[in-house]
Amino acid sequence: MKINENYLKLKESYLFSDISKKVGAFSEKNPDAKIIRLGIGDVTLPLVPAVTAALEAASREMGQKETFHGYGPEQGYGFLKDAIRDYYGEKGVELSSDEIFVSDGAKSDLGNILDIFSTDNTVLIPDPVYPVYVDTNTMAGRNIIYQNACEENGFLPMPDRSVKADIIYICSPNNPTGAVYDKAQLKEWVDYALDFGAIILFDSAYESFVREEALPTSIYQIESAKKCAIEFCSFSKTAGFTGTRCGYTVVPDELEFDGVKLGRLWLRRQTTKFNGVPYVIQRGAAAVFTPEGRSQIKANIDYYMENAKIVSETLDKVGIWHTGGKNSPYIWLKCPGGMKSWEYFDFLLAKAHVVGTPGEGFGVNGEGFFRLTAFNSRENVEEAVDRIIKASDMI
Ligand code: PLP
Repeated sequence: MKINENYLKLKESYLFSDISKKVGAFSEKNPDAKIIRLGIGDVTLPLVPAVTAALEAASREMGQKETFHGYGPEQGYGFLKDAIRDYYGEKGVELSSDEIFVSDGAKSDLGNILDIFSTDNTVLIPDPVYPVYVDTNTMAGRNIIYQNACEENGFLPMPDRSVKADIIYICSPNNPTGAVYDKAQLKEWVDYALDFGAIILFDSAYESFVREEALPTSIYQIESAKKCAIEFCSFSKTAGFTGTRCGYTVVPDELEFDGVKLGRLWLRRQTTKFNGVPYVIQRGAAAVFTPEGRSQIKANIDYYMENAKIVSETLDKVGIWHTGGKNSPYIWLKCPGGMKSWEYFDFLLAKAHVVGTPGEGFGVNGEGFFRLTAFNSRENVEEAVDRIIKASDMI
């Protein structure tokens, strides 16, 4: 037996363990310091009442002989797929329910989709980036090329036609940078993919945070994108499902390579290796699309976005360059005073007792940058920004 040696090529990620070690050591020395964490990538508000009511009702159904559900369709129940289809319809994107595949979250699908692509493909991944794209392709031994996201391009890299890529990752709104592509920019990516016979894997996990009407929330709002893109989305950040687990992937019927429909391969992959999301969870997810569910999740997103605005406006006030915060729960700032990511981490912890995430942990281009998030209470965010303002005077 031989192991998959590609796993040995994976870089260990010490980012979050290094952060907790540093915070732990600081707390020990400064037991009275009230530390505020603005580095949290997980949601903090609970599930909304419309969702919990649906979860409770579905649990009761599972306890009755007449309404019990065993194995369901691997690709999701019709009631949820239809609700997702209608949601896309409101965005001006016509889908059929067969093009939607429900899963236990975007992370699984982003990794699993690679099963249907040859390992010979060259993968184009922006840097800095959500680490899952890099690690899943490293595990499979694919050749990865990186694309520089930087201050000059507003952390929104555009296609370079001198580079030939087969699989392209785009995450918009972006984690970690909070930057969002506009329609014209995405059109350039779609044109590149069509011209080069490439596929775009579009991660729209943060689509519900987009505020500006003109900005795209789905790649399929771009003409011809159904011919070259798969879209991954999730209820995690939209509706607080990080611990409940539900997401979905759209594989358009038009998406065909070498005369083979990718939807057919993905259906085969899912029906072979996956037995579906629990009925109860899918009922909870469907409640997100009811009128009550929508207004309740909107209130939560508004809450986070007000936090993001407070952070972004504070950074403007103290003259710190940043992206994000306007259509995303992430704020990506340039460390002031020419500090490196970890230097600024230590500085903020020591002077403001505020914890963020060093940008360097998301890729080499993240060095000198820092991620703050909106997933905290209003009270904590307000206190944290006051402290950041005071600390800025010490630079
Ligand atoms: N995509 C991005 C960009 C994310 O930041 C995350 C989670 O943080 C995910 C996907 C994973 O989502 P899920 O919880 O649905 O697996």
